[in-house]
Amino acid sequence: MPEPTLYIVSTPIGNLADMTPRAVATLKQVDLIAAEDTRHSKRLLNHFGVETPMLPCHDHNERQQAERLVHRLRKGASVALISDAGTPLISDPGYLLVRAAREAGIKVVPVPGACALIAALSVSGLATDRFYFEGFLPAKSSARKKKLIELSALPVTWVFYESTHRIRDCLADTRALLGDDRYIVLAREMTKTFETVLAGSVEHVLRCLEQDANQCRGEFVVLVEGVKPALDQAIDSEAKMLLKRLLRDLPIKKAAAVVADISGYNKKELYNLALTFKA
Ligand code: SAM
Repeated sequence: MPEPTLYIVSTPIGNLADMTPRAVATLKQVDLIAAEDTRHSKRLLNHFGVETPMLPCHDHNERQQAERLVHRLRKGASVALISDAGTPLISDPGYLLVRAAREAGIKVVPVPGACALIAALSVSGLATDRFYFEGFLPAKSSARKKKLIELSALPVTWVFYESTHRIRDCLADTRALLGDDRYIVLAREMTKTFETVLAGSVEHVLRCLEQDANQCRGEFVVLVEGVKPALDQAIDSEAKMLLKRLLRDLPIKKAAAVVADISGYNKKELYNLALTFKA
């Protein structure tokens, strides 16, 4: 009997041609498919002629399902986990199941494929040697701004997912906090008919969205350039102290402008440095 295995199977993020032959073969061969939304996945499985029984495994039942599935795996079944799109566990359920399977000594095998995060990074033109993935930002503006302040200090490319309902508000908050000098990339509807990648300042990207309402539709990955690492060393301690002191009473932009006036340092660099103090 083959060793019981949990397969983590990636599915397309919009283009059915991105389904890998190995993903299809695995889904046909396993005893059971755990799916985030069985009705949604039924269409995908029908398209590829997969008749394996499905069982729901989503955010609200994952703990109980993980127990049941590990029980089935222990008894010798093979199971595949899929999500609605892309790679399971990447802003999708599955972590609890994989953890439980590992703890039970069950073999876990990836069947890799599409992932919006990686597809977006690969075409962004942003540094990819290191990056930080935030998943979804908080829905409420106050919490989102707090998170954006934290992220804005990162010295590496940072990436988050965003939905059609919030993309404009989210970019408006990003502009308010980062100013207009940070390079960002907005990857929309990747692998689909209306795939678009907008790049430039937040101001430029927002203007594109305002000029064409269609640009606000669909699914988004937002990628932001990290703070230049040399920044901190380039500014002397006197200017840093002054900036820190002014930040207690002034908004970031104003504090950076005053210190730039006095010290002669570049205003944008002081602004970016101030963001790192605030984080
Ligand atoms: N597990 C998925 C993956 O591997 O990318 C992500 C699932 S998460 C619930 C869904 C979010 O991923 C969407 O709201 C959007 O931000 C992003 N996303 C998914 N498909 C996308 C696409 N084709 N183009 C751009 N973003 C996409």
